[in-house]
Amino acid sequence: RNDAFLKMQEHRESNARSYPRRLPLAVKRAEGIHITDMDGKQYIDCLAGAGTLALGHNHSVVREAIEGILKSYLPLHTLDLTTPVKEAFVDELFASLPSAFAQKAKIQFCGPTGGDAIEAALKLVKTATGNRAILAFQGGYHGSTHGTLSISGTLGPKMNIGSLVPDTHFLPYPYQYRCPFGIGKDGHQISSTYIENLLDDPESGIVTPAGVIVEVVQGEGGSVPAPLKWLKELRRMTKERNIPLIIDEVQTGIARTGKMFAFEHAGIEPDVLVLSKAIGGSLPLSVVLYDRKLDKWEPGAHIGTFRGNQMAMAAGQATLNFIKKNQLAEHVHQMGVYFMDQLRSIQKEVVSIGDVRGRGLMLGIEMINPSKQPNGHGSYPAYPELARKIQQECFQRGLILEIGGRYSTVIRLLPPLIITKSQIDDVLHRLNEGIKSAEI
Ligand code: PMP
Repeated sequence: RNDAFLKMQEHRESNARSYPRRLPLAVKRAEGIHITDMDGKQYIDCLAGAGTLALGHNHSVVREAIEGILKSYLPLHTLDLTTPVKEAFVDELFASLPSAFAQKAKIQFCGPTGGDAIEAALKLVKTATGNRAILAFQGGYHGSTHGTLSISGTLGPKMNIGSLVPDTHFLPYPYQYRCPFGIGKDGHQISSTYIENLLDDPESGIVTPAGVIVEVVQGEGGSVPAPLKWLKELRRMTKERNIPLIIDEVQTGIARTGKMFAFEHAGIEPDVLVLSKAIGGSLPLSVVLYDRKLDKWEPGAHIGTFRGNQMAMAAGQATLNFIKKNQLAEHVHQMGVYFMDQLRSIQKEVVSIGDVRGRGLMLGIEMINPSKQPNGHGSYPAYPELARKIQQECFQRGLILEIGGRYSTVIRLLPPLIITKSQIDDVLHRLNEGIKSAEI
């Protein structure tokens, strides 16, 4: 039966479809960390809606919140009008923010995607500063619209588009495994000094920017955590120059990295914070939170029809509440440490694993080809064919993983945050088997 669905998909769906190509299954049911296909085969889901399903599939608190909305006879959609559900969501979200930021923050509800909220953030800082340029980072990913694509590092999807938003400059992210700016004990320092020079050099070719946008841990870029000291430096240099710092926590937010927000690890705060994915508790929702000093845009400066999804707000509130009540961020931290230790043990046995890294339950395994020549600073070439093969072998063994990162050579793991130690052992077992049979 799975095959029949896949055949239909091949015939009717666009050539631009993505996940179904590498994960050939039709989903019938999902609960917790598991999904079941049409033939009854069960998989562990370490993709979790690209990090959206914080509490896994169909968690009881999420289901109850959604059922509560249905029973309430509230309008299911309200544009951005206020309802008690929306107010309760905002209260819960503000209570989840670090208090200093919460006190100065304002919230803008955006269209249902992360990309739409990033668009809003860009327009916000441009309007507030009167400047035009945006500084973004190599390897960053912020969405798929023209604006967000313009500030994303990935070249592939840009090639056939052209005419993207001008005045975007890319800075080196301290990607410690491969980027010369990240390598070594002081790599992050070299990177931040370089950035500071660019900001101050009148001949750097970079005009005073409207904002700097950064992911604290690059997600699609290959689960690459920025060193905390580097983040502190970035915060210092943007603050000193009055440049708004936009932190894109679309993927890292809502406890994914072991704190409610990933910037908290570095003890910094954004001027603008973008949230989506898990903030809607499995349903589409996105928001921008920002320092009220920047609130200089006009009414209607960022509109869009679908900004009032009551079910998403209720599910998001229930998710935030559950995370706090059950200290899930701490659980994520502990599970992340355990997972990482185990991945390091696997790395010792497998020569084609160049790097394992991540923060909390946002992990990456970078595959390399050690039979080729290393580059100037000692890292071996990427091995995307092997990463792909491992993904397929794991899929056969009932484990869903995603591939990402530069050169598509990073195996990414984003399990639901509720995953237990014994479930992680199960993932590791399947992963190990998958790697063994894939080595080519
Ligand atoms: N920013 C980050 C960091 C993301 O990971 C993503 C999605 N992967 C986006 C923005 C875009 O979100 P969406 O796909 O909902 O537009």
